Amino acid sequence: MTQVPEDAIKCLDKGFVRLVDSMGGDDAIVQAARVSYGQGTSKVSQDRGLIRYLMRHRHTTPFEMVEFKFHCKMPIFVARQWVRHRTANINEYSLRYSEARDEFYFPDPEHIQFQSALNKQGRSGEVPLELKQKVLDYFKEISERSFTMYQELNEEGIARELARSLLPVNIYTEWYWKNDLHNLLHFIGLRSDSHAQYEIRVYSDAMAVSVKAVAPFAWEAYQDYVVHGMRFSRIEQNLLEKQLPPRVVDDILEDVAYQITATMHKNKPRAEADLYPLYQEQGGSDSEEDFKLKWDSGEIEIGNVRELREFRSKLKKIKK
Ligand SMILES: Cc1cc2nc3c(=O)[nH]c(=O)nc-3n(C[C@H](O)[C@H](O)[C@H](O)COP(=O)(O)OP(=O)(O)OC[C@H]3O[C@@H](n4cnc5c(N)ncnc54)[C@H](O)[C@@H]3O)c2cc1C
Repeated sequence: MTQVPEDAIKCLDKGFVRLVDSMGGDDAIVQAARVSYGQGTSKVSQDRGLIRYLMRHRHTTPFEMVEFKFHCKMPIFVARQWVRHRTANINEYSLRYSEARDEFYFPDPEHIQFQSALNKQGRSGEVPLELKQKVLDYFKEISERSFTMYQELNEEGIARELARSLLPVNIYTEWYWKNDLHNLLHFIGLRSDSHAQYEIRVYSDAMAVSVKAVAPFAWEAYQDYVVHGMRFSRIEQNLLEKQLPPRVVDDILEDVAYQITATMHKNKPRAEADLYPLYQEQGGSDSEEDFKLKWDSGEIEIGNVRELREFRSKLKKIKK
């Protein structure tokens, strides 16, 4: 089986993730979204804005234009979770065709923990050293014993496809795994999450490194709108509508009016005299004197006009 290649990210004790190939990046997303424009017709800042818009509105197909092919080596129990993600193309090392190698996963003592009492799919607590040692001894004993039996059956000519069933799920396998960015982000969203099992999280985090390098704007937008974004259920929205004092919402709307004005001014500078009317058009209600004071403080944040307007309509909905 393949040892950890130089350009791979080592995962667990003997595994790895290596980006073999990729097709496209942020430019491919933009190109697909604009379909007929082709490359080179837009500024980098516009590309970033478009990608962020697509991610925010879950317009997902342009993200499917970017492809990643990974070579990965992982214990079979990790692969079992991994294959549940049905949108990838996989080609795996065959234990019918080739002989298994003596490569088994032995957890780092740090990750040997008790069954969590709160989370039925999790671990917690510090295990005493002797018990950790026992866990490791058992891992080694079952791995060595099963492998010896497997080799013995192989030597006696028993079919590999049958003999392999003796091997435990901590034995390593490897595969080529190809997926598009949209589905890869879905995978990373589920498997880099704190609820996912530690052993698969390590692989998901390793793949995330490649995504960040190949499509940095898409990765940034994914972080902002998916990982750190929040959606409210109808019940939660009703609670917000009932419990948020209208003056608090008004204060936020004021901030938004300032931010939209400042952003529009940055994108297309206006004459000094046009700024206050512009701010009023954005729903700002401060007096001209207060406006000037705040404007000159230089503390108004710049954002994205479209995004700020969307936020404004959400706030208005909450206020009604
Ligand atoms: C923390 C965690 C715990 C889990 N626990 C369990 C468990 O206890 N038992 C268990 O069996 N599984 C478990 N799973 C696996 C989980 O139920 C999903 O099978 C797995 O996460 C793949 O998700 P997916 O179907 O969205 O992904 P993919 O298969 O990659 O699919 C991506 C998306 O494509 C669409 N899609 C793909 N195929 C179809 C289809 N045939 N029909 C309709 N839509 C489709 C869906 O919208 C889907 O969300 C767990 C997963 C996680 C992350």
